[in-house]
Amino acid sequence: MRAMVLNETRRPLELRDVPKPKAGRGQLLVRVSTCAVCRTDLHVVDGELPDPKLPLILGHQIVGQVEEVGEEMWEGPERPDSRGTKAAPTFAIGDRVGIPWLGWTDGDCWYCRSGRENLCDNARFTGYTPDGGYAEFTVADARYCFHLPDRYDDVEVAPLLCAGLIGYRSYRKTGNARRLGIYGFGNAAYLITQISLYEGRDLFVFTRPGDTKTQQTAKALGAKWAGGSDEMPPEKLDAAIIFASVGPLVPAALRALAKGGIVVCGGIHMTDIPSFPYADLWEERVITSVANLTRRDGEEFFELAPRVPIKTKTETFPLEEANITLDRFRAGELKGTAVLTIAE
Ligand SMILES: [Zn+2]
Ligand SMILES: [Zn+2]
Repeated sequence: MRAMVLNETRRPLELRDVPKPKAGRGQLLVRVSTCAVCRTDLHVVDGELPDPKLPLILGHQIVGQVEEVGEEMWEGPERPDSRGTKAAPTFAIGDRVGIPWLGWTDGDCWYCRSGRENLCDNARFTGYTPDGGYAEFTVADARYCFHLPDRYDDVEVAPLLCAGLIGYRSYRKTGNARRLGIYGFGNAAYLITQISLYEGRDLFVFTRPGDTKTQQTAKALGAKWAGGSDEMPPEKLDAAIIFASVGPLVPAALRALAKGGIVVCGGIHMTDIPSFPYADLWEERVITSVANLTRRDGEEFFELAPRVPIKTKTETFPLEEANITLDRFRAGELKGTAVLTIAE
């Protein structure tokens, strides 16, 4: 099969003919239709995340069709109902399937046993430790795959699998915040904006200073205020989510919070956070981060997304152009989430 392979970090991917994977026990063999490109893919290529499997097939927002179902799906020491989540979905040959970042957990560590499988000590992450979706086929553990809402086609739905899911987890961490700030108006922010407006929040969007075009886009979507990240909002915020990987935004967001407010860092990587006076954290302000996702996040999100309905903005590229896609993403030249189209 054709695959775009990362042989070493800080090098372009290589188009190669590699053996088609086989579905092991409990796994699905999936013919990949689309795979959306995530900023995490860039962090892996750029060597900003530790110890990726090499060589590696990137990609963890995969939409495809089940081609083969591995044997003995639910037998073995780990039972799908022992995780504090709903019984896992089942798949048949021909079903459409979504494969997210969380690819496997042990089901057994303290985190898994306390409903926090996103923090599992032994988790495997699609397109990072096992291979992902920049290829014609991939395999995935069926218990971590999702059925996808019918209202979306394979291109539209792909960005929901990470930007949507991790964005949703970040958003849920803000509790019932009425005045919500968002720093960094990229793919995840665009999706979460739609949910927060649907749920009646007052939205304050922060962009790069001087980026009036993005500020106008945010206002047109329904943000109450939009401005530069160097500005203070007209009201104090109950919560702020930072989607940009820019550490100095953390103390900036903290200064914009009301008492008891929370700053949620939604990315997997961020530059260093500068020091700030304790007075900015005082009065029970909180800084937290979001790591990965749980299957429950996915179930909730894919139930909610079509009701809003969340719309995605995408730009498609053929698999062979993955390097061009990553370069354009890095340079901030994309008009929507890049989606690689793979099956005819
Ligand atoms: Zn675990
Ligand atoms: Zn991602």
